[in-house]
Amino acid sequence: MKKIGSVGWIEKEVAACGPSDAICRPLAIAPCTSDIHTVWSGALGERENMVLGHEAVGEIVEVGSLVKNFKVGDKVIITAITPDWNSEEAQSGYAMHSGGMLSGWKFSNFKDGVFAEFFHVNDADGNLTHLPEGVSLEAACMLSDMVPTGFHGAELAEIEFGNSVAVIGIGPVGLMSVAACSLRGAGEIFAVGSREICCNLARDFGATQIINYKKGDILSQIMDLTDGKGVDRVVIAGGDCDTFDAAVKMLRPGGKIGNVNYLGDGDYIKIPREAWGCGMGHKQINGGLMPGGSLRSQRLLNLIQTNRIHPERLITHRFKGLSGVEEALMLMKDKPKDLIKPIVIID
Ligand code: NDP
Ligand code: ZN
Repeated sequence: MKKIGSVGWIEKEVAACGPSDAICRPLAIAPCTSDIHTVWSGALGERENMVLGHEAVGEIVEVGSLVKNFKVGDKVIITAITPDWNSEEAQSGYAMHSGGMLSGWKFSNFKDGVFAEFFHVNDADGNLTHLPEGVSLEAACMLSDMVPTGFHGAELAEIEFGNSVAVIGIGPVGLMSVAACSLRGAGEIFAVGSREICCNLARDFGATQIINYKKGDILSQIMDLTDGKGVDRVVIAGGDCDTFDAAVKMLRPGGKIGNVNYLGDGDYIKIPREAWGCGMGHKQINGGLMPGGSLRSQRLLNLIQTNRIHPERLITHRFKGLSGVEEALMLMKDKPKDLIKPIVIID
């Protein structure tokens, strides 16, 4: 990112490796819709000459003297969010906000990201996970961000057995939310999107009904399908600030919203007063940055190894070599009909 609205290639020094850190070279990287919000919506404010990217599998080329669990040559999964695990926020259970709100999100936010020949990982023991034999680079790379974020949507909405759920947005993140809701025992899952390729995968991942937001407003479609009752839970992984209006309205009293969508523009989110029970409807709205960390990664990896989730099915476009990231990023910006998620394989 050269500045808001402008990307290109730049030369930079390799970052120094502190005693708890690691330097990695990428084996597989993927652009995220968040990179698009950051560059083209200026969602984080101005960033000049910052390396983009926060989704990667890599190989360690240098490791700090205090790192216990990793050595040079290890292949590792790097989470998009890399908290400081000894921070106060981490101790209070919100590691993703270590150092201030959203500050666990360092790559392509407060420091250079992973779209480079080498990149720096803080707190290597806390933020790296060994890539086991038999797990593909494609599946592993989706563990950086798409799986943990999609799953966090289901966690934030606190899905319980038999809940009826609307998942608004079924790009790669929302698709993993559908899979997560399904694993957590949701009943009816209404998946909201428009592109056929995403709708088909949503069905495979457990959606019971597809709602096309381009063919009428989603609120009335969901109310019609639920005999006017609405849903128990809403996961938001797409749309914009206005999406909360429909989400609150379609929610039953006592319902919960889990938002993982990155609201790239707009000043306020309006909550409809009456539909929110005039402030007394017990309708919770939770929004969160995905938690990072190696323990969580290992648990999610476990779901891949036991064939419970197949995040590699998100990948529709493949590129070879670091230079491929340019085209991959532009695909993510333009969202052609046949795209879910691109990946760039370096090794
Ligand atoms: P995509 O853009 O690929 O998917 C967005 C989805 O929302 C698509 O299914 C799209 O439908 C749908 N959509 C678009 N507009 C509307 C609308 N008005 N009403 C309902 N649905 C709509 O995004 P990703 O899946 O890659 O990412 C989702 C969000 O998650 C992004 O904002 C991203 O920045 C954020 N994110 C958040 C993270 C976190 O930690 N919280 C981490 C990573 C990402 P279609 O395209 O089919 O028309
Ligand atoms: Zn991301």
